[in-house]
Amino acid sequence: MKQITIPILLEDVAIYNDPQGTVDVTNPATQEIIAKVPVVGEEGSKEAIEAADKSFKEWSKTSSDERSSRLRKVFEILSERSDDIAFILTSEQGKPLREAKAEIEYAAQYFLWFSEEAKRIFGKVRDIGSGKEMAVRRYPIGVCGLITPWNFPIAMLARKVAAALAAGCTVLAKPSMETPLSAIALAHVLREAEIPQGVCNILCGDGATIVSVWMDDERVRKISFTGSTETGKLLIGQSAKTVKKLTLELGGNAPCIVFSDCDLEKTLDAVIHAKFRNAGQTCISINRFIVQESIQERFVQGLIERVSRLTVGDGRDSKTDIGPLINKKAVEKVARLVSDACANKAKLAYGQSPNLQSLFVSPIVLTDVSQDMQISCEEVFGPVCAVQTFRNDDEAAEIANRSIHGLASYVFTKSYDRFRKFLPLLEYGMVGFNENNLSLVSAPFGGIKQSGFGREGGTEGIEEYQRVQYLAVGNF
Ligand code: NAD
Repeated sequence: MKQITIPILLEDVAIYNDPQGTVDVTNPATQEIIAKVPVVGEEGSKEAIEAADKSFKEWSKTSSDERSSRLRKVFEILSERSDDIAFILTSEQGKPLREAKAEIEYAAQYFLWFSEEAKRIFGKVRDIGSGKEMAVRRYPIGVCGLITPWNFPIAMLARKVAAALAAGCTVLAKPSMETPLSAIALAHVLREAEIPQGVCNILCGDGATIVSVWMDDERVRKISFTGSTETGKLLIGQSAKTVKKLTLELGGNAPCIVFSDCDLEKTLDAVIHAKFRNAGQTCISINRFIVQESIQERFVQGLIERVSRLTVGDGRDSKTDIGPLINKKAVEKVARLVSDACANKAKLAYGQSPNLQSLFVSPIVLTDVSQDMQISCEEVFGPVCAVQTFRNDDEAAEIANRSIHGLASYVFTKSYDRFRKFLPLLEYGMVGFNENNLSLVSAPFGGIKQSGFGREGGTEGIEEYQRVQYLAVGNF
């Protein structure tokens, strides 16, 4: 198996004059330390704001054509390097290499998409009569603080950085300390693409320390956060101090509604991907299988057949379908949810409760799950299929919506007419109809309810990084 030691290029990590030591990055598959990353505290965070603010004065004045060509260069370099960066990503995060490569390609696509969107920043003008007009202009909002999680360490950062830079903003970026290397690799690519110094500043260190400095500083105009609902709520409170614009991409609890008239074989093949990608550690992972009673037995049988063919192992091994979970806490959470479900009369139809001594968790299928169990209310973030049943369409919608979250949902039926009537009942920001892939750079990704607000990607993505100015033009 290929081995790596990852050189940390100090130019790619903002340490400024505030060295606070290093943090170890470990490979979850082996527990080996693969890198030591320099971290910053309050002083470094202040210096980074200074650098981003200074660079904003120049970057915001560049033409959108120039920003477009620089971002296109990032796309090209990231695409060329996808094998190497995928290896770094798998080594720190654990997902299978082919998934890591797909994530890099997806991340690169954001730079391509926003390189095009940069050219389509338009305002509008309306003739309001009597020789007067009104106009709406869009400007880059300013310095933006970006905070990202460990589950898609490069894609989540790319969809923020690409949109912000396209709009003409400069950024401070704080990756998760579980997976800082992918972010550092991205910073390196930006440097190679000649994005000027100070435009994208990667800050490694304690989230609460770094982000509270941003929250106090008037020059940071916007915060874009992807992570848990719990942390998101803290940030809403802190951002009140200087009234910052927010984008929050928070947790999910995706229902997958399987109607009796679905194409069962195709549905089963599709749900395996939506459940087991990244070992189930995905905000849009299916969390609850809600299956029509009349087909539940055949559905569970087909699910078990497929699940039993999945291989758990080190993501660097080409045979691996499911890598390790990110850390011990994640395994403990899965064990708690499975144990609570079983104690409340769910049946363990396949697999066994996780071994707490290992980060590798084999697939589990639970049946007879009900909506009041912890597993139906919390994000599982692990390879567990929790199956419950419904009788009619209204009941399916009622179960699906019984969640504080509203991010992704999936519906499988051959009847478009049935789906069309069902769709308005679903309180979710995103719906997959006979489709398991919601991650598209051209789509407005995001949720409602406690899954957050704002959208990333699509034509909407760039607006999150703009301020709008309305202008009234008189007639003399
Ligand atoms: P997390 O909230 O623990 O951490 C996310 C980021 O916030 C990390 O960089 C972390 O260091 C930082 N952070 C943590 N506490 C902080 C604080 N007090 N102040 C400032 N920063 C702080 O989430 P996680 O465990 O890294 O990620 C998993 C979560 O992310 C899941 O809930 C998942 O659903 C969600 N997620 C959502 C989306 C989406 O698009 N909606 C995408 C991916 C992941």
